[in-house]
Amino acid sequence: MICLVCREAQTISGVTSIHFERDEFKALIREIPAQVCPVCGESYLNEVVTAGLLEQVGKMFAEGELDIVQAYT
Ligand SMILES: [Zn+2]
Repeated sequence: MICLVCREAQTISGVTSIHFERDEFKALIREIPAQVCPVCGESYLNEVVTAGLLEQVGKMFAEGELDIVQAYT
């Protein structure tokens, strides 16, 4: 797909990292499969990955750890 942010390039398959924060809770999820723009670096997740990511972060939040770096599972 064409990048929606810069409209200069087609996105390519890659991985990205996303940071979540809620009060004291911080999590960085790495190696998330995504479409990445080679020009501006914007990344796009599909619905399946997004749902999985929210579930993963929800579990981490429920377990009560505050500062987590984890690969996407
Ligand atoms: Zn772009």
